[in-house]
Formats: sequence, structure tokens, C-alpha cells
Amino acid sequence: MAGIADVISGGEVFRVLSEAFRVDVGEYVVLVAHSLGEGAFPVLVSVILSQNTNDRNSIKAFLTLRGRVGVRLEDILGASVDDIASSIRVAGLWRQKAETIKRVAEHVARLGGEDFLLREDPFRVREELLKVKGVGFKTVDVFLSVVRRAPVFAVDTHAMRVALRWGLARRRDYMEVSRALLEYFGAERAEEAHRLLIALGRRVCKARSPRCWECPLASYCPSSSKR
Ligand code: SF4
Repeated sequence: MAGIADVISGGEVFRVLSEAFRVDVGEYVVLVAHSLGEGAFPVLVSVILSQNTNDRNSIKAFLTLRGRVGVRLEDILGASVDDIASSIRVAGLWRQKAETIKRVAEHVARLGGEDFLLREDPFRVREELLKVKGVGFKTVDVFLSVVRRAPVFAVDTHAMRVALRWGLARRRDYMEVSRALLEYFGAERAEEAHRLLIALGRRVCKARSPRCWECPLASYCPSSSKR
């Protein structure tokens, strides 16, 4: 089966998706956190909160934590795991996430704090953050692409599903899919393309029953039921 890359370029798909979907900052916890301009660490906190839950709940948890404890590195360093946990219940897995947030704060502080996150080589930041229990590839790549505009492609459940349906990768393997999406869209579009794939996956290319009849890419997609 030919993949989407055989019939249309990533640049063109990006254009089609950008015209079809409006990305609202208020719908994505990571963009909410970034737009507050309080530094890099709060963005990392927001991505951890978004693990295994939707953006609505993670935005609530992030804003509650920000109001009660604070989300900057020094706020988290000065807070107890219990204080963090009790502020983020709505995001689910609250005890685990609170422990991860605390662990990552301590690790980042040892490495130089905000300076490390903002100025160190992004691949070294990636390597260090991945050492923290509870922090995985997707969390780090979302963080690095939003805060550092690093040449990485974050793969969440929607991007994974769409990439496989498009035939960009054969296996449900994070690194393989991430590399394929990065190559297809190009590093300069990676951050926005990630967001557009989420919009496509949420609204049209749904897990159980993709709505191919209303998909703007139906005539190019090898998995389209319309072809
Ligand atoms: S055509 Fe169907 S399977 Fe392909 S991207 Fe669109 S909704 Fe998904």
C-alpha cells in the first residue's frame, strides 16, 4: 500500500490542515502554560499533568496548582508532594504525577534550573529529563518543541494513529513514528503539525470510527474509506 508521502508532500498536508482546523491556545494545557510566560519549568509541569488525561482536566489541574502552590521551579521545590497532589486531583493519577513533578524539579535544580532548560543543548536536556522516573519521550518532546522549538516531533496517541493510517510508519514504535513525522513535515513545522494532528485525530480521524467522509485529506489518505 502506498503511503500518503507518495501522493502529497508534508508541506501541502500542513497547509490543508492549517486551513481546516483552527488551533485555540485555550484548548491545550501546554500552550496555556507557555502563554503565561512564567518560564520553561511550568510548561514541563503542564505536560506531566496532561499524561493520560484530556486537556480540559489538565488545564484545571494546572491552574489550581498555580493558584495554590505555584508552578515555577522554586514553588515546586518549596512544596510538599502532598500539597502538589491535593491540587491536581482532577488530572487523575495525582499521587504519581505529584511525585514526578517533585522529582523532575529536584533533578532540574541540580542541573542548573531554568538556565539548563533554556540554554543547554536540547538533546542533552532530552537525555537528562528522560532519566527522571515518570518522564517519557512524549513528555520531553512536547516540552522541547514548544519551549525550544527543537527538531523533534512529539507523538501522542492521535499522531501515532494518524501516522499509521497514513502509512508513514509500519510499527507502533515511538521513535520510528517520531522520525517519520519529523522527516515528512520538516523540523520548522513540527510543533504546529503536532497540534494539527491532534485536532485531526480528535475531530475527524477518531480511533474507533474515522469520519473519512468529512476529512480534508480523504483523497490522499491510503486508509480512507472514501477511496
Ligand atoms: S481519510 Fe479517514 S483514515 Fe485517513 S486521515 Fe482522514 S479520517 Fe483518518
